[in-house]
Amino acid sequence: MSLMFNGIGVSRGIAIGEAYLLRRNQIDVTSRTLSKKSVPNEVRRFKRAVKAARAHLLTARDNIPKDAPSDVSSFIETHILMLDDGVLSQRPVEIIKSELINAEAALQQQREELIKVFGSMEDTYLATRVDDVNHVIDCVLRALDDGMQQVVDTEQWKGRIIVADDLTPADTVNMQHHGVAGFITETGGQLSHTAILARSLGIPAIVGIPNIRRYVQPGEALTLDGQIGMVLAEPTDTMLAEFKQQQKESRQKQKELSKLIDTEAVTSDGVQLKLSANIEIEEDLKALKRVNADGVGLYRTEFLFMNRDSLPTEQDHFKVYTKVLRALKGDTLTIRTADLGADKQLPGQLQDKLQERARPLAHNPAMGLRGIRLCLSDTSLFIPQLRAILRASARGPIRLLLPMITSITEVEQCLALLEQVKHTLREQNIEFDENLPVGGMIEVPAAAVAAAQFAEHLDFMSIGTNDLIQYTLAIDRIDDQVNYLYDPLHPAVLSLIKTVIEAGQNSGIPVALCGEMAGDTRYVRVLLGLGLTDFSMPPNLILETKRSLISCRRATLRKQTVALMAASTLKDRQTVLDKINASAPP
Ligand code: PEP
Ligand code: MG
Repeated sequence: MSLMFNGIGVSRGIAIGEAYLLRRNQIDVTSRTLSKKSVPNEVRRFKRAVKAARAHLLTARDNIPKDAPSDVSSFIETHILMLDDGVLSQRPVEIIKSELINAEAALQQQREELIKVFGSMEDTYLATRVDDVNHVIDCVLRALDDGMQQVVDTEQWKGRIIVADDLTPADTVNMQHHGVAGFITETGGQLSHTAILARSLGIPAIVGIPNIRRYVQPGEALTLDGQIGMVLAEPTDTMLAEFKQQQKESRQKQKELSKLIDTEAVTSDGVQLKLSANIEIEEDLKALKRVNADGVGLYRTEFLFMNRDSLPTEQDHFKVYTKVLRALKGDTLTIRTADLGADKQLPGQLQDKLQERARPLAHNPAMGLRGIRLCLSDTSLFIPQLRAILRASARGPIRLLLPMITSITEVEQCLALLEQVKHTLREQNIEFDENLPVGGMIEVPAAAVAAAQFAEHLDFMSIGTNDLIQYTLAIDRIDDQVNYLYDPLHPAVLSLIKTVIEAGQNSGIPVALCGEMAGDTRYVRVLLGLGLTDFSMPPNLILETKRSLISCRRATLRKQTVALMAASTLKDRQTVLDKINASAPP
């Protein structure tokens, strides 16, 4: 019988293959009491296991493709460092000796100790650290159990879909090396290490399907759609044929789309469009070049804060920005200053450090000390970034983008701080672009309503619909339970977007839109109808968006969008939307 499962699609792509079941979470540990005589033997056994685990991690590190982003290896490096730390390699030896228990039990005792310490800290950062500790300890336990070679038969991975409770970053890297078709995990979210790596390494993946290993048998036929997060087990011949057809069409579509790379982005009634890219990690730069994007409309810099134990320095920021600039070869780079907090919690110690200084509201972080609020409340976080952005601006065209602005006072504070930084740089004879454009993300309804006032203080605006919709409709953007209420076409949302676009036009400053809506072909024509011409989106959506927009007339869309905004029921709205998209390519 065919079964369907839905999870969180974290890495696009369709995979078809046999299931390979993997258990990665904690291994059951039986405690044994040792005689004094057998202690040295047990210690040797433990040390051998640590060595085998280390060799396993080193192999994973060696298997990292040369062109993989640097953060891929840092995940593995962290695990190697943890394993080398006395807390994991020495302390269990002491426990074996003092308590006369077997290596597994000693290791388990040490795990519980460490989790207790981390657990008492109650934050997302520590959850990530706990995951790391668990990954490393499990690796040693598996080596104690049966030797690393038998842990997984990676030779069997090729072309298969891995179904696991959880995966370590080392597993994910090894999976790409061994040519897996895709993977599914029971736990995890969009921002889990494994999900981030899957996207970077281009492995179709779905996470967050609880207990799937109970329903799927080894070797069973599976299909996976990493975009919509759907898995089919034992699909019927008809379903499988359909899926294969989809896979074929998707490849064909990509081929067709690539013909549009050099096509000018102009609507059929002559409206010039700008289609730029949202980027996060170095890997995105390659994708951006493949589609010939109009520069970067949103560089999310939060990634720079991940996988590290200390805040990035001015030089860390500067190095990355200049590297990205070089890759852009003269195209504009819009750098958003760190939008930390809420859905972009930092891992580990770093979050702790921030909380010590800034204490974000734990109960409702989306409305707490996040984004620009956090940076303004802790300028030691902000100033190195401002200095790095200014210094990099001497090397190529940069725009500075402020996240989550809500009041004009915040903009004034940022501009004053920027002036101070500029003053210091002048004193230090450090070059920068005196006219560095400063823009604001319009993603809080208050800022959208008052956009005309913000436009007077800014050089450009960029509408962040991901947050704008969340705040306008009072829907947590990462809460599955209210996801069905997340409605980009809600008249209130459309009206706010229109207000911002018109405010920009009246003040003569550019307005872009960089939320997910800008690359969603269901909505891009509506945005054009509202007057938007500047779209920023993940690079892999640019050609699809271009194809949809160049084949329509803005004049027609303007009228249709008025009708869409006037439609009060869902049914009426759908009717107008269908008309808007009727001529869109499939
Ligand atoms: C947005 O809110 O629409 C946006 C682009 O920013 P982020 O998704 O990073 O919050
Ligand atoms: Mg946002």
